[in-house]
Amino acid sequence: MQIIHPLADMTSWSREIIASGKTIALVPTMGYFHEGHLRLMRLAGSLADHVVVSLFVNSLQFGPGEDLSRYPRDLDKDAGLAENEKVDILFVPSDKDMYSPEFNARVLVDGITDTLCGKQRPHHFAGVTTVVAKLFNIIKPHYAVFGQKDFQQLSVIRKMVRDLNWDITIVGHPIVREDDGLAMSSRNTYLSDEERSRALCLFNAIRHAKARFAEGVVDAKRLKSEIRDIIATNSGVSIDYISVVDKDTLSAKKEIDSRSVLALAVRVGGTRLIDNCFMASDTEAINRQW
Ligand code: AMP
Repeated sequence: MQIIHPLADMTSWSREIIASGKTIALVPTMGYFHEGHLRLMRLAGSLADHVVVSLFVNSLQFGPGEDLSRYPRDLDKDAGLAENEKVDILFVPSDKDMYSPEFNARVLVDGITDTLCGKQRPHHFAGVTTVVAKLFNIIKPHYAVFGQKDFQQLSVIRKMVRDLNWDITIVGHPIVREDDGLAMSSRNTYLSDEERSRALCLFNAIRHAKARFAEGVVDAKRLKSEIRDIIATNSGVSIDYISVVDKDTLSAKKEIDSRSVLALAVRVGGTRLIDNCFMASDTEAINRQW
């Protein structure tokens, strides 16, 4: 595995690969790898001849007062972990190369960015789409792999690629969870032991929702209220949103159906955590997978 920092070196590597008729799969990340990231890398390896993993803590997607300065970083450890996967290039651009002082461009996807996390973090998705657009242009991948853990992000990227006619196949990977069900996240390292156990209310809420849907409950308002009660039993956990939305348009659903996604965001102490599930996926299979 090679670590590349300069943007121009990354592009020349990609040009050579493409000229030789081989394919590239990209996994964009902000680093501090966990098993979720590694699974995305493995999926990328199954899709293309070469895998590029980008590691860039993207200042553009953090709002004022968010955790940009304390976001966990460990390049040496990440390089070791990526090295053990079928990763050809770990692309680690610098802040100043990505965003020169004159940088003014933004790639915006309207509509689906106004809801869920986009409502609470107004400039977040513009930061995400802008950096992903830059990575696509620098790396020129044939495939890009994103996790369903960031379900709205995946939808926004799919929409951007469709709307802008990018010839890139976007592939989603299911949520990778700890043994007890907590969705893996670099931000879980912020949690104290006590907060870590309270954070399980997200997975408990998901399990409850799926069980209730399997029993025939389709009233979104009723289900959301039951979930609110489950989460409320945990002191120190506040709810950012509990939403049932259409999997493609992200518009709110009154009646839950096979296209519905339950999306949750809570704050456990100072840490914001998100989780989601497809309501129609079979509970048994999901429990096995998790
Ligand atoms: P991040 O480094 O947190 O920006 O994540 C990089 C990529 O990994 C994104 O596409 C995330 O959706 C994905 N990812 C992060 N955590 C998980 C997880 N627990 N399961 C699946 N994908 C994940």
